[in-house]
Amino acid sequence: MSYPGPREPTRLQRMLQPAATALKDLVFPRLCAGCKTVLDSELDTPRSETAAWLCKGCTDKLIPVEPPYCERCGEVYDGAITGSFRCWNCEGRKYHFDFAIAAYRAQDVIREIIHSFKYGRQLHLRGALACLTLRTLAEPRLEGLDLSSWLLVPVPLHITRETDREYNQSRELATRLSELTGIPMADVLRRVRATQVQARLDREERLKNLRGAFQMRRPRPWRRVVSIKGRSILLVDDVFTTGATTSECARVLRQEGGAEKVVVITAARG
Ligand SMILES: [Zn+2]
Ligand SMILES: [Zn+2]
Repeated sequence: MSYPGPREPTRLQRMLQPAATALKDLVFPRLCAGCKTVLDSELDTPRSETAAWLCKGCTDKLIPVEPPYCERCGEVYDGAITGSFRCWNCEGRKYHFDFAIAAYRAQDVIREIIHSFKYGRQLHLRGALACLTLRTLAEPRLEGLDLSSWLLVPVPLHITRETDREYNQSRELATRLSELTGIPMADVLRRVRATQVQARLDREERLKNLRGAFQMRRPRPWRRVVSIKGRSILLVDDVFTTGATTSECARVLRQEGGAEKVVVITAARG
């Protein structure tokens, strides 16, 4: 494995864990994050395995992002192509990240999970999404690298939207990913301008809408901010659509923060 993995439990934790898990599963039976049926997975199924979160039926409905896909934006190509390629979507476009990779196509089960997680205040779904997002780290361009020196950085939400939603889904996802992988999380970006909901805008409008929307967090006497100068970043978001938001974040991470490499990882590809 090219990342440290979860922190080793202490002896006491190891002793108490099985009883605690059994009790928790008795009081709150573990439900499939997709269809809400009670899961029959083993009690000790590691949280990094899909079976800990999804039933077999829902797991079978997931469509993994697999080659051939665009080497830049991760757009899946449905025909036969061998070797690396860039899609028409990327032609003549400048992204500020190195490349983007998603775990699954935003269809069916994963799409519903993301929707409930984002708009339905179902915070408990973050564990399932983090587990699903782990798949991105098996991407050949990441697999051989030692990711323990990298940082997980969430895409920030503007404070007004975060107050509405009660949490920032990307930060929750990055936090869980950090627990599963041992890669540290650094919440270094902030959104200084509330932007319109992107879904209604075309590409040009999205770019204009985002200009100046992000900044690096500044250290305060009560808050330390990790330096990302020369560091490699895994920029975390729930879903990748046009890449306008993540590209703008990557620009700030590089130009203001001095990051050396920015790779975007998402649970789903829109
Ligand atoms: Zn299910
Ligand atoms: Zn592309």
